[in-house]
Amino acid sequence: MAYLKKYNDIVVMQFDILRNYAGINHFITTRTDGNLNRFNPGFVDWKNPLEVIENRKKLASAFSLEPKNMVFCRQTHSDNVAVFNEDEGGNGFYNRDTAIPDTDAVITNKHKICPVIMTADCVPIILYDPKNNAIGAVHSGWRGTQKLFLKKVMTRMHEVFNSRPEDFLCCIGPSAGPCCYEVGDEVVTLFKEIFGENEKIIHRGDHEKARLDLWYANELQALEFGVLPKNIEISRNCSMCQSDNFYSARVHKSEVGRTGTGIFLL
Ligand SMILES: [Zn+2]
Repeated sequence: MAYLKKYNDIVVMQFDILRNYAGINHFITTRTDGNLNRFNPGFVDWKNPLEVIENRKKLASAFSLEPKNMVFCRQTHSDNVAVFNEDEGGNGFYNRDTAIPDTDAVITNKHKICPVIMTADCVPIILYDPKNNAIGAVHSGWRGTQKLFLKKVMTRMHEVFNSRPEDFLCCIGPSAGPCCYEVGDEVVTLFKEIFGENEKIIHRGDHEKARLDLWYANELQALEFGVLPKNIEISRNCSMCQSDNFYSARVHKSEVGRTGTGIFLL
């Protein structure tokens, strides 16, 4: 079970299956920061960028990192993966202009490089290959999921770091859950093209809109890639049901913060 843990004033969620690995640390931010409980590390849809920078500094410092250790992307619901090879990052820390452009996943085997993925209802996923010491952070909303993005990122880690399916730990974080994530018929059609009439992915009652289970659609990709079931953990927190803890684009609407998900090799 994913659990909450306090680092300085910040409360983050962490995955149980990563708990006993001494070579990494990771986090999923919540809104809890011991102050106004509106902790937000994302610039998009937020009025005060200085507050975001302050929060990012707090987050970095809570994990004994500096701005140069963190890497942010301009996420575009693409299926583009960045292989991060530099010893220092800092991309996008102070503004979006310097973030890695048009990218929705970062993989690396560099120590103290922490890619941070931003989500508000989309699915954040972190990957760890303890055999080859490589990590990845992935943003997969319905578009990414429909493009089988997770599978693509794992394939890339295999090509670059020789990560084998049985080596992967795959952690699927808070997002809009199958309880709430209604989509229109055009999205259902796109999902059927990829996943067929899979009732575990497309939930449809008699008189309601279809709801997607993006957690299962991503878990399925990991399983099909060959990741062992015991090495997959899903936090099962719905960002819409639990919008007090996590930001939700569908619930918060006017000023939407972001949940930040990161992992790094120590
Ligand atoms: Zn829900």
